[in-house]
Amino acid sequence: IRLIQEASPFVGQWIEKEYERQKNNVELIASENYCSDAILAACGSCLSWKYAEGYPYERNSGNKGRYYGGTENVDQIEEYCCEQWRKVFHTDYHVNVQPHSGSQANFAAYRALIRPGDTVLAMSLDNGGHLTHGSSVNFSGKLYNMVFYDVDENGYIDMEDVRKKAKKYRPNLIVAGASAYSRIIPFEEFAEIAKKVGAYFMVDMAHIAGLVAAGEHPTPFGYADIVTTTTHKTLRGPRGGMIFGRPELAKKIDSAVFPYAQGGPLEHIIAGKAICAEEAQQPAYREYIHQVVLNCRAFCDEFLKMGYTVVTGGTDNHLFLLDLRDHRFSGNDLQKACDEAGITLNKNAVPNDPRPPKETSGVRVGTAAMTTRGFLEEDFREVARRIDRIVKKLDEEFEEK
Ligand code: PLP
Repeated sequence: IRLIQEASPFVGQWIEKEYERQKNNVELIASENYCSDAILAACGSCLSWKYAEGYPYERNSGNKGRYYGGTENVDQIEEYCCEQWRKVFHTDYHVNVQPHSGSQANFAAYRALIRPGDTVLAMSLDNGGHLTHGSSVNFSGKLYNMVFYDVDENGYIDMEDVRKKAKKYRPNLIVAGASAYSRIIPFEEFAEIAKKVGAYFMVDMAHIAGLVAAGEHPTPFGYADIVTTTTHKTLRGPRGGMIFGRPELAKKIDSAVFPYAQGGPLEHIIAGKAICAEEAQQPAYREYIHQVVLNCRAFCDEFLKMGYTVVTGGTDNHLFLLDLRDHRFSGNDLQKACDEAGITLNKNAVPNDPRPPKETSGVRVGTAAMTTRGFLEEDFREVARRIDRIVKKLDEEFEEK
């Protein structure tokens, strides 16, 4: 920090403030986490200076090698990174570790499987899907003919609806995975439906990848043709994305990432991803993820005990959604009030939300980040009670209005 402050007092000052905020606030954003110092150091290393367009593994995918000289060191790291991720997920799928983000990974994954105008069946965004699963303002909604499946009246993915829509629309691709879904996703059932209608099946496991790695969520490997993920959520790695695919899709995936979607890979981030993969194979990581799940259950149960409505009535993973439709205030109001109290969470639409996306009638909370900081079940129960006090105050304020 001192180095940065000397070079740029302005930037240094704000990084320091952000560091303090991150250290002192109760961080409940389900997609955030704190990576290790080793990963952070790799991301700030000299690898940031290196251009390495192309791939180190010519022989595997049939793609050409690198387009630059001097890549012998980063080649080692990138190949090792791919190998380690296959070990994490016990898979022989091809892996591309170059996507700069989860969205870039999805952009390239679609490109590898389908063409503009093709039909994609994905989870509707207001039910928990991600922007890249068909939002009209995202590339996915603009390039592809997106159709959506919904959740049932209990908030669970409605597999009957998936079956019905797959039969009706005959999609080229079915996508499973979500940003705000608290239950187990039945990959096997999805794969059967996709097979029946002749569609590719893709899983975006960005949120639950850490749980899959630690055996706390069923694996999509063996069922999905392509699996995409981010590395910075439950995986607790550097900010970035990855794509895994059946070996026969290797060449298509690689050319969809480079040269189609991206230029030079971020080799410093790839080094961070390699360390992340090593960490994810340690017993300590499994224990961490197990605690994330236990904490989430305890956190959620405390809200249920206090009479709150939780979408699906509970959670199987690292997050859940509080449904605030019974209250006069919005998800946005609660987000702001929590911010003032040093609790960071995000507003989130709930199924059949009557409010617009900037307001919403829910908030999403997750336990991955605070578990990294050592929180246990009782700490999360206490946070639930603190949020309850904020909710009661808002109830009073909005009653008076
Ligand atoms: N896919 C899912 C399911 C996500 O939740 C997210 C991010 O929240 C992404 C993809 C996109 O990741 P990124 O923000 O790195 O583009």
